Amino acid sequence: MTTMRSSLRALQGVGPRRADTLSEAGIHDVGDLYDYFPRRYLDRRAMRRISELLNGETVTVVGRVLKTVQEGQGVARSRFKVLLADETGVLELVWFRGVRYFSKMLATGDVLAVFGKVGYFGRQAQMQHPDFDKLGSGVQASGSGESSDLELYHTGRIISLYSTSDAMKQAGLSSRQLRMILLKAFDDHPPGREENLSEEMLAAHGLMPLGEAYREIHFPATQETLAAARYRLKWTELFYAQLLFALRRQEIRQNKTAARFDHSGEITRKLYEALPFDLTGAQKTVIREIYQDLRSGCPMNRLLQGDVGSGKTLVAMFSIALAADNGLQSAFMAPTEILAVQHYLALKRAFQPLGLNVGLLSGRQRKKERDAVLGDLRNGTIAIAVGTHAMIEEGVTMAALGLVIIDEQHRFGVLQRKALQEKALNPHVLLMTATPIPRTLCMGVFGDLDVSVINEMPPGRQPVVTKLLAGNETGEAYTSIIREVQKGRQAYIVYPMVEESEKIDLKAAVDRFDFLTANIFSDLRLGLIHGRMTTESKESVMDEFRNGRIDVLVGTTVIEVGVDVPNATIMMIEHAERFGLAQLHQLRGRVGRGSHPSTCFLCYEKTAPDALRRLHAMESVADGFRISKIDAEIRGTGNILGKEQSGAASGLKIADLQHDEAILNIARTEAFALVAKDSQLRMPEHAMIRTCYLRHYHERYALADIG
Ligand code: ADP
Ligand code: MG
Repeated sequence: MTTMRSSLRALQGVGPRRADTLSEAGIHDVGDLYDYFPRRYLDRRAMRRISELLNGETVTVVGRVLKTVQEGQGVARSRFKVLLADETGVLELVWFRGVRYFSKMLATGDVLAVFGKVGYFGRQAQMQHPDFDKLGSGVQASGSGESSDLELYHTGRIISLYSTSDAMKQAGLSSRQLRMILLKAFDDHPPGREENLSEEMLAAHGLMPLGEAYREIHFPATQETLAAARYRLKWTELFYAQLLFALRRQEIRQNKTAARFDHSGEITRKLYEALPFDLTGAQKTVIREIYQDLRSGCPMNRLLQGDVGSGKTLVAMFSIALAADNGLQSAFMAPTEILAVQHYLALKRAFQPLGLNVGLLSGRQRKKERDAVLGDLRNGTIAIAVGTHAMIEEGVTMAALGLVIIDEQHRFGVLQRKALQEKALNPHVLLMTATPIPRTLCMGVFGDLDVSVINEMPPGRQPVVTKLLAGNETGEAYTSIIREVQKGRQAYIVYPMVEESEKIDLKAAVDRFDFLTANIFSDLRLGLIHGRMTTESKESVMDEFRNGRIDVLVGTTVIEVGVDVPNATIMMIEHAERFGLAQLHQLRGRVGRGSHPSTCFLCYEKTAPDALRRLHAMESVADGFRISKIDAEIRGTGNILGKEQSGAASGLKIADLQHDEAILNIARTEAFALVAKDSQLRMPEHAMIRTCYLRHYHERYALADIG
């Protein structure tokens, strides 16, 4: 597809400035331009003239802004009105919220496509808070464009609309311009000259040819052909993404160089005998799955999912025990220092009596201490190293590293995983996550991993009662905390803290801490913990809480993940509306870890409907997998994996892991079947797929190598 690499500059309508702007938006060549898929479409057939609008129907109207009016004073009272006209009449648009924003955004002369529900006030048609696209701007409209813009959108097509950044708008790259550039590009470089799926695949799955799909996606003829084009392009994208996973998995499987943990001995047995409780059935099952990997001779590459509190740490310990029985070292990595210390202490408690040395690597350690640990890792005196994820970058060397465990790894990118495998000599890798990832999302982002799920909680757990409290009801939470502390229990109070408003948030949390200490809990022992404290002071506060010398721990989200203090029975979350569902679930998981009944109070201030939906979901749902699904429905899948991983991790431009499960399943089956048949894509009949993979996808993900 050399033609697709052609410079955009050669296209009519693209000068140096526009080429630069496009390049900033990730569009470097004609192929990228074709892959810049429309954000949505305007369907002329769902459009109405203003005179024909019916009360109660939801439709699209295109018109020009005649006039804008701002009425009323103050946030509560003011409203913003726009009179939108076409050749048949005038439609009134009204905004009660965001008045300032919309009044700045819209001006007389703008051409708008508005989507909304029509209401009539007397004879005046109105839409409240319509969705809209600005098709042309009154201020910038140049002579000839004036009336023709409006025409263009009336020409009975389905019209594609693109996301346009501010920079693109300034360079005159509106949706309309992009369409013109695309049309020209289609003439010079017909899309899809080279197919990227085989004839058999197209036939077997009823897929539209590539060239046609590109034309349809940008210039749809009908809704049906558009749907077929979208299906085709999603299919291709998911197929190649899964091909990558299939190849990567194959590569690891064929690589028979990992240590075999054949020997199950004393340490495993003693660890088992020392347990104060029985393993749950689910823990036994996943330990068996992990042991199979560890004995196979191929590097393990497994993701362990289990809801908050399901007992993943213990599964990790049994893996470590097997490594030790085979004379190999383990590295255990946690996302935060607090957690690393907690795991260090737990592992020391479990393994020191069995004669194994456990070492902690902390960013805050004195150099001498750290050097001693590093030395002992190098000479093999230490069997188990615990530290933060930074251990990978620091190039820690170990005498006989056999197993790497990464706790709470959902923030752990695909590329880091690859780096890890390359750095150490084929260790077995176990990733653990307590943010349950819906199946499709998991396949889309971690499709190269084997997955084990702990689907059962240890027995005797009391469910956590979750209660929503409005701003003026927080007294109830305070009373409960005092009552629980009198019974010997402990509590957490959590304040939101986000990077963008870190200073203000921190001050708010500290102020509240002072207030609570002085006024509400003057008889209790309070502790404060937040991200700005030194690791040492964080550790000492956590220690005091763990040992029961602090009754109420007030903190920011540093205690979000993994903290395990079974005696704590109350979690009070302030401004719960500011947290995401996954985060709330994690926080709630800090209580209900022992045999005492626990409560989680979600305190909220006046809040948006979305946030309230989230909070109500928390009230009624305890299962992390279901919460995760609801989160995906409300906020999209990107939020589950955190900022860094959202779109970038899956690398998808058109497919969507939330809605395209059916396509994903088919494409995955095809990709894995292909690699099972031809692991290096060497057969002549796979040459085209091989070429396409190497040229377009291998580079994009830079992950699986084929020689
Ligand atoms: P998570 O999966 O969230 O990491 P942990 O490993 O921290 O959970 O375990 C939560 C708590 O459950 C710990 O206090 C642990 O000792 C306890 N636990 C783990 N497995 C069992 C079991 N089989 N029976 C009873 N308690 C268990
Ligand atoms: Mg844990």
